[in-house]
Amino acid sequence: MKILFLGIREDERPALEAWQREHPEHEVVAREEILTAATLPLLKGVQAVCLQQVISPEPEVYSALAEAGIRQLSSRTAGVDMLDLALAKQHGIVVTNVPVYSPNAIAEFVLASTLYLTRRFAQIERKNSQRDFRFAGLIGRELATLRVAVLGTGSIGLRAARLFHALGAEVVGYDPYPRPDFGEVGQYAPTLEEAVEGADVLTLHMPLLASNHHIIDEAVLARLAPGAVVINAGRGGLLDTAALLEALNSGHLSGAALDTYENEAPYYRYDWTGKDLGDAVLEELLGREDVLMTPHVAFYTDTAVQNLVTGGLDNAVLAAETGTAPTVVEPA
Ligand code: NAD
Repeated sequence: MKILFLGIREDERPALEAWQREHPEHEVVAREEILTAATLPLLKGVQAVCLQQVISPEPEVYSALAEAGIRQLSSRTAGVDMLDLALAKQHGIVVTNVPVYSPNAIAEFVLASTLYLTRRFAQIERKNSQRDFRFAGLIGRELATLRVAVLGTGSIGLRAARLFHALGAEVVGYDPYPRPDFGEVGQYAPTLEEAVEGADVLTLHMPLLASNHHIIDEAVLARLAPGAVVINAGRGGLLDTAALLEALNSGHLSGAALDTYENEAPYYRYDWTGKDLGDAVLEELLGREDVLMTPHVAFYTDTAVQNLVTGGLDNAVLAAETGTAPTVVEPA
């Protein structure tokens, strides 16, 4: 079958070429363009579509896909909010995603971010740049002496809990849907408040829903142990950034590592070199030594990219051939 692979990035090419070598029976046509009304001519002679984009296709794209005989859209992403699932279904188009591509990628990044803060790498770098090699201000803390609160113990939270546990930390979890295997690495608290009480590290791994916007607010932060650090590689909206800055300024928290930021959409993945960000909070966060800002890259490893490409192509073939796949995403 001929598969149109839209929105290709350079870092995806090795995985795409490897998949093509393993599947000589299929032909993958890779294009940088994304799926829009303007790129519909690319569908000619194609039996399946695999895409990766943040911009939504226009509504007429769905009817055009159906007219072209295409019955599926395989997104090589976890989130598919750019697609109109109801409209796709109306036109008989099955949408698939790759929900689990490398929980370990994010979990390792969380661990590295925590160590960056607790072993004071930013302060070491600053002092190095001044050629000040004295120890003052560089004393660290050992994970084996710390209590780590993991909120959300799904694929990523559980993996993060395993890594912290392996290094000797005491792990406390909270999840409205507890899983039995979490008991191997930590203990559940009955409420979110009890999980964070006295924690030295707080890490967020639940989805952002209307019901948990700013769930980590001033009151929750106040429950953390003095000198605690907050790690957010979940979603920016989970954390009240103003409350975080207050807790840092008061000295209650010693640091934060934010891979997600509540107003990140205009910035992350774009080149703002030399331009005014126009966001005083983001500027402040970027300028602080006690905050590590990273542009939503926790997932971004060679393994994750390979799993996304392979999963996306496998789903495209399966859904085009059978009309379904294990990761079909239904409209809400
Ligand atoms: P998952 O669905 O496997 O796990 C989410 C867990 O959160 C579930 O166990 C669920 O029961 C729990 N949960 C739901 N509401 C909760 C609440 N109010 N309090 C505590 N727990 C709650 O998802 P996952 O694959 O582990 O991903 C978790 C989140 O990580 C995603 O929703 C996404 O926002 C984020 N993420 C970030 C990156 C990155 O690069 N920074 C990459 C992928 C995912």
